[in-house]
Amino acid sequence: MGEAPTDPRRRVPRTDVVLADPRLAAATEAEGRAAVKAAVVQALSRVRSGELEPDDVVGAALAALPGGLRPVLNATGVVLHTNLGRAALSPAARDAVVAAAGHTDVELDLVTGRRAKRGRTALAALHRAVPAAGDVHVVNNGAAALVLAATALAAGGEHGSERPNGWERGGEQRLGGREIIVSRGEMVEIGDGFRLPDLLESTGARLREVGTTNRTTVRDYEQAIGPETAFLLKVHPSNFVVRGFTSSASIRDLAALPVPLVADIGSGLLRPDPLLPDEPDADTTLTDGADLVIASGDKLLGGPQAGLLLGSAPLVERLRRHPLARALRVDKLTLAALQATLAGPSTPTWDALRLDPAVLRDRTEHAHKLLAEAGVPADLVESAAVVGGGGAPEVTLPSWSLSLPSAYASPLRAAATPVVGRVERGRLLLDLRCVPPSADATVVDMVLSVAPRVG
Ligand SMILES: *Cc1c(COP(=O)(O)O)cnc(C)c1O
Repeated sequence: MGEAPTDPRRRVPRTDVVLADPRLAAATEAEGRAAVKAAVVQALSRVRSGELEPDDVVGAALAALPGGLRPVLNATGVVLHTNLGRAALSPAARDAVVAAAGHTDVELDLVTGRRAKRGRTALAALHRAVPAAGDVHVVNNGAAALVLAATALAAGGEHGSERPNGWERGGEQRLGGREIIVSRGEMVEIGDGFRLPDLLESTGARLREVGTTNRTTVRDYEQAIGPETAFLLKVHPSNFVVRGFTSSASIRDLAALPVPLVADIGSGLLRPDPLLPDEPDADTTLTDGADLVIASGDKLLGGPQAGLLLGSAPLVERLRRHPLARALRVDKLTLAALQATLAGPSTPTWDALRLDPAVLRDRTEHAHKLLAEAGVPADLVESAAVVGGGGAPEVTLPSWSLSLPSAYASPLRAAATPVVGRVERGRLLLDLRCVPPSADATVVDMVLSVAPRVG
């Protein structure tokens, strides 16, 4: 009995032919030949059962591979894309991570041979970058910094707010309460369902909401202050704006009140930036009188995921000494990347934010020309990029993009080097702003590689 010519089994590619596909080469290098072969064999069995088209074997095998974060090209036009890991590290920071991957002097003084303060060079670099801070500390992320502050200053317990040698301000012993006073307009959700109020209350601290959604005055805070107050918390509404009949109390006004002031500025801007006039920065916030500033390392600072705590020396010391600090401490790789980020040169985040639109236009035009010559139905269009990552929601950056049929989106994500764009009004936009210029050619190659399948 002969097989019918349309029998899918006749079209099952050979394993060694699939394994030779260049799209699997990078995966083989990263994950080993055995893992890739197993994924291919499994995909081929799905072709035999008629479940998968032979053309989709490579894509299915790649998708089924167990692990490893895959590098992608961020053509979304969102500079800090949470799903793509926010900030891309600078070449210097990447080198530092590699160098720190072995044994390092992270907690050893090589001169004396004695134990030294963990991550002292990174902390010193952070301190130099924010002179207004009395001391600095780094934890796992911004959320961890908030949890540490809330636990150590407001949660109570032996190591918490009931410590007798607590915070003194204006001659008055105020700390020892368990309430965090926060404006109703600043009870924010930071993304993926995580809400700051829930995070803070999970520590055992109590939140005392003051004011209204659109307006909160200094007086609202002042009236809420009592023996139970641990600190005032000012949260920067980093991913939304409230417009119209609004008012909020300034850091300066709140700093005049007789309790500690903690400011969660979110984005990790260390100094003022004229490009982002509405983003608070750590140095100004401290100069204006905040006692503690909390920020993320992988937003506008452009460094590794980290939570920065900057503020008065006794307060920071108290956080550092809290038992929870050990559970939130950062890895040597983070410290290495942070130090290198602070030492400069500029980060990919900074470069993407400041990219000259004329330069971007030239790069996009060149890519467009190559695609048009190959018959790909791409247009060159003006577009708008954004900061993303819960920062500067009002700022749009004039940009240029390649516009393709939206059918390109999914195959490009599955390409040998995945290219992630954004779909807007039925078109896939590829914005090269956050693509390293050296990878422009890869974007073109990937589009060309999927074009025959998109048609
Ligand atoms: C991003 C953000 C956080 C959380 O920081 P992570 O580093 O993501 O944990 C907290 N507060 C504000 C205001 C933020 O913008």
